[in-house]
Amino acid sequence: MKVIADTHCHTIASGHAYSSVLEIITAAAKQKLWAVAITDHGRTTPNSPGDWYFENLFVVPKIVDGVYVLKGMEANVWDYDGNLDASNLVFSRLDWVVASMHSETLKPINDIDACTNAWLGVAKNPFVNVIGHSGEERYKYDYDRVIPEFAHNGKLVEINNASFRVRKNAIENCKKIALICKKYGVYIIVNSDAHFASQVGHVEVALEMLKEIGFPDELIINGYKEKFERYLRERTKFFS
Ligand SMILES: [Zn+2]
Ligand SMILES: [Zn+2]
Repeated sequence: MKVIADTHCHTIASGHAYSSVLEIITAAAKQKLWAVAITDHGRTTPNSPGDWYFENLFVVPKIVDGVYVLKGMEANVWDYDGNLDASNLVFSRLDWVVASMHSETLKPINDIDACTNAWLGVAKNPFVNVIGHSGEERYKYDYDRVIPEFAHNGKLVEINNASFRVRKNAIENCKKIALICKKYGVYIIVNSDAHFASQVGHVEVALEMLKEIGFPDELIINGYKEKFERYLRERTKFFS
């Protein structure tokens, strides 16, 4: 198994990542990816770009170096009702939205009910495509209750390769999340969360974990061009 798309990558615009948009795309081409998503952090992350950065992303061509480029954002879930830190106007200009919780923008309160409520709110947001790295213990939620709701609303559950390096306390929960996805037949998406170009397309550790727990390949949506392309056609305006 090798992924054909990496849909969670940061550029220098995030303020704490170190490659340009072009360097990320060039790296994706080198990895022979079919698509890559540029997903800089939403405006409440310290040093992240403002609305106009995201609204103007359409200047980046749809295909660069033979790679489809999804213009996106990693939006912050910034309250326990599941509100995100960008307006619908900004979201409507983008192809791709990852929604994640970060301690800089959502104070962890270690409350399963509150996090369940937050993710159920995110599940209803029509602009969100990916539920980003949701395995952190301090943001634990009711997986059995929420994950089927993600699927019901067309969201993809991310297994994030960087979690195995920077969020080690999340590894056990990532396995549990994957197993719940397996149980309900929910699509996952395996992303690098690259903060430097050389990380683009590298999701080996996450794939290794999935193999270890017997996760079915056919539920890895970015393992197959046909499946991922169908998602883009049915659930986004990328090809319209
Ligand atoms: Zn993140
Ligand atoms: Zn990220």
